[in-house]
Order: sequence, then C-alpha cells, then structure tokens
Amino acid sequence: MEINQPRIFVVSAPSGAGKTTLIKKAQKLVQNITFSVSHTSRKPRSGEKHGLDYYFVSESEFQRKIKEGDFLEWAEVYGNYYGTSKSQISGLLEKGRIVILDIDVQGAMQLRNVKEMNIKFVFIEPPSIEELNTRLNNRGTETVESINKRIQNAKQELMFKDQYDFVIINDELDRAVNEFVSIITSQ
Ligand code: 5GP
Repeated sequence: MEINQPRIFVVSAPSGAGKTTLIKKAQKLVQNITFSVSHTSRKPRSGEKHGLDYYFVSESEFQRKIKEGDFLEWAEVYGNYYGTSKSQISGLLEKGRIVILDIDVQGAMQLRNVKEMNIKFVFIEPPSIEELNTRLNNRGTETVESINKRIQNAKQELMFKDQYDFVIINDELDRAVNEFVSIITSQ
C-alpha cells in the first residue's frame, strides 16, 4: 500500500455540524478526491444507496469482517457498527486518489495510533451547542430522544478536537468549505 503520502484526510464532526454538505461541496471543487464508502450494520435511510452511501451489511457479516481483519478501523456509534475497509483504501491510494474518511472520533483516535500512515485529521466544529440543537431540530429526521443523545455525544466529541491537526468552525458554509479545500490542497 502506498501509505506515506499525506493522501488520507480523516474528517470528524458531531452529528448536525454540517460535515456531509461541506465534504460534498469540497468534492466539487477539488478533482481527485474520493469519499471512502464505509461498511455499516445500520439500516439504510430512505434514499441511501448500497455501495454509494455505505455498504449495508448485517451485524453478523460485520463481526465476521472484524474477525478477518478487514477493517483499518471500526467503531460502534449509536448502537450500530461502522468500519473502514482496508482493501478499499489501498485500492484508492493505488489509483492516486486523495481519500476522505468521514468517521467518528473513536475511529479517528484508532488511526491516530497508526504511525506508519501519513494521515491528516480535520475536525468540523459547530458554532455552538445551541446552534447544533437548532440544526438537528430543523433537519426533522430525528426524534427528541435521538437529538438529545446526539447533543450529549457532541459534547463528548468536542473534547477530542485538540487531537486533530485542523479545526474548522462551520459557522458559514462557503467559508468553511474554502478552509477545508485549502487544507487539502496545501498538504
Ligand atoms: P450516520 O449513521 O449518520 O451516517 O453516521 C453516524 C456516525 O458514524 C458519523 O459520525 C460518521 O462519521 C460515523 N461513521 C461513518 N462511517 C464510519 C466508519 O467507517 N468508521 C467510524 N469509526 N465511524 C464512521
């Protein structure tokens, strides 16, 4: 695997911080960047496609892949498993792609310990917890219970932001996208 170039960017953010929109906008601006598609045991949400948003697998299939050492990192998030496939990442790096991993803080901390890989870590921070609460409510996809869980989780995740190489405050989307793009292109 071609692993010494800084061609992997890990991006983490609390749920509702605007990470997905930010990454998608950046993808339109920088050629050659590819989203790594994770495996998950979570059920697809409406509109999500297998192989595009995630590889949706059963929990037992996920466990089998853990045992076989297929994952570079994996974590349990909100009761579901998520993991990054080693073979997919090496395939993308061999094609010369810049790879973006959209993974949670637990997964990022696992990769922090992989010293032989030159990975850059980017944390997307919401302007405030209040704003996060508003965005999660406006999204309309979560129950009150789920929103509260995500807010508690966000507070935990924010404690890890100093472990990242870059912190982008997503107060204004276009500005945040520009900051993200300049991080990728300057490395
Ligand atoms: P969602 O279910 O909303 O798509 O994602 C929930 C959380 O799981 C997000 O924080 C996302 O970054 C994280 N996630 C997605 N894929 C992976 C992965 O492969 N590994 C880890 N550790 N987290 C992931």
